[in-house]
Amino acid sequence: MVAQAQNNPKNQCPICKESTTPDVATFPFCSDRCRKIDLGKWLDGKYIISRAVEQSDLEEGQ
Ligand SMILES: [Zn+2]
Repeated sequence: MVAQAQNNPKNQCPICKESTTPDVATFPFCSDRCRKIDLGKWLDGKYIISRAVEQSDLEEGQ
């Protein structure tokens, strides 16, 4: 791609600030690890669900 993309803040991993590209499956995160860290931040108090949906809930209605 273009060299310019390295300076684009949109192409920067929000977790580790490493440069990344829209080519990666985990974009905008540079890796699956950073994606999970971000997910963990949501689950860790910032976004609290009263009760998580569990597999048994899905099976119950069938
Ligand atoms: Zn990262």
